[in-house]
Amino acid sequence: MERTLIKDLHEHTGKEVTIGAIVSVVRQQGKMAFFDFRDRTSVIQGVVFGKPEVLEVAKEVTEESSLFVTGIVNQRPEKMVNDKVENGDIELEITGIEILNKSEVLPFPIRNDTKSINEMVRLKYRFLDLRSEKMHSNIINRSKVQKFIRDFLTKLDFFEIETPLLSAPTQEGSRSFVVPHRIWQGKFFSLPQSPQQYKQLLMCSGFEKYFQFAKCMRDEDSRGDRQPEFTQLDMELAFVNKEDVISLNENLLIDLVEKNYPEKKIQEVPFPRMTYKESMEKYGNDRPDIRTEKDDPNLLAFVWITDFPMFEETDTQNIDGTGKWTFSHNPFSKPEDSSMENFMSKGNIGEIISTQYDIVLNGFEIGGGSVRNHDPVKLKRTFEIMGYNEDRINKNFGHMLTALSFGCPPHAGIAWGFDRLMMILENEENIREVMAFPKTREGKDMLMESPSEINIEQALELGIKINKKDEDNINNGG
Ligand code: ASP
Repeated sequence: MERTLIKDLHEHTGKEVTIGAIVSVVRQQGKMAFFDFRDRTSVIQGVVFGKPEVLEVAKEVTEESSLFVTGIVNQRPEKMVNDKVENGDIELEITGIEILNKSEVLPFPIRNDTKSINEMVRLKYRFLDLRSEKMHSNIINRSKVQKFIRDFLTKLDFFEIETPLLSAPTQEGSRSFVVPHRIWQGKFFSLPQSPQQYKQLLMCSGFEKYFQFAKCMRDEDSRGDRQPEFTQLDMELAFVNKEDVISLNENLLIDLVEKNYPEKKIQEVPFPRMTYKESMEKYGNDRPDIRTEKDDPNLLAFVWITDFPMFEETDTQNIDGTGKWTFSHNPFSKPEDSSMENFMSKGNIGEIISTQYDIVLNGFEIGGGSVRNHDPVKLKRTFEIMGYNEDRINKNFGHMLTALSFGCPPHAGIAWGFDRLMMILENEENIREVMAFPKTREGKDMLMESPSEINIEQALELGIKINKKDEDNINNGG
């Protein structure tokens, strides 16, 4: 039997076809039964009338079941045409139903927006939540935008290159998730907070233009626009300067909005720019919402923030007692040329300006990057300012310094918080609405029920001792 897609039913008017569909609505009316069916392409109404043997099966059908439905595609009488829905001018006169899998009663209704349903329940039954029209379209639009970006960048000679998820723990940046190892007990991998070092190493390898939709993991407290696991559109380019990266990204963002969200209006093109200092003085933060009309869900106000301080003072010292400066964004960033003298002489450290650029949209930081310090002697200076001794520099960053010393071309890059961008484009209030399987606000996976315990044999094999007492404390909220 050949399956006809619902979007193609018009071509079969007057003929008998079989569709594979999910039942959106069932209305049993004694000698008749009405259904709304959907497949991935469209919707159609079906009716069983005057066929007792079909009606018998129809009585068993519950909403959200999957079926093969055979029927004749009929033109609806003029006054029955509903031009507000797809295929509102035809209907299926059902001649046979095969129930493929009958659905239980749903834990919550999915016919409308599921926003008002308890989110823990939505996440536990995410596979059903994702059937709802809005969630379904969020995920499909995300996929379309990803394809658009892939096409845009590959046309410009970019290569999409994957980098490892099992990476090396660092003490820099946010807290990482660590992964124990069966063979090297007591030693750990770490899940990457971003592919930063790998993408720079790819520049050392001569690929020149790299991008990747990269999973990044950070053990930070979650909130509306943050998840322990999120997706970056990561890119890096060799032989470029700051303006090259900014204009490439600006063009991509503009094209992306115009082609995928034509109803949206970009407030100002080219995107305005603001220094960090200006933004702090005027808005009190470095992700200003510069929209002139805040009630308009279709207004997109992009702004570039530049001239960030390269270092910030820390109140805590390094583990080895040295240093009171740390990098403010990214230790691999190059300072602006105007700050190079201070940087090399380690003078007026607080005034050193980095080449960091952030892209902000409607009050959210949706991306950031910089020109990198590709000269190993200069890069080393960053770690010296942070108070690292020779040993620690070599241990933590020796591989980068070595790689850069083999003629690595100058390079620069950026990473977008892809979930945040999609959140804004889809007019959502948190990134969970544009992710297929997010964690809860507290960072738990309700569907798989993780994090979860491992058994004692597994722990032994990994050389891990589980501190039960602490775990109890955590469970008790203590
Ligand atoms: N790796 C940086 C980040 O995750 C972005 C970049 O500088 O390319 O914030």
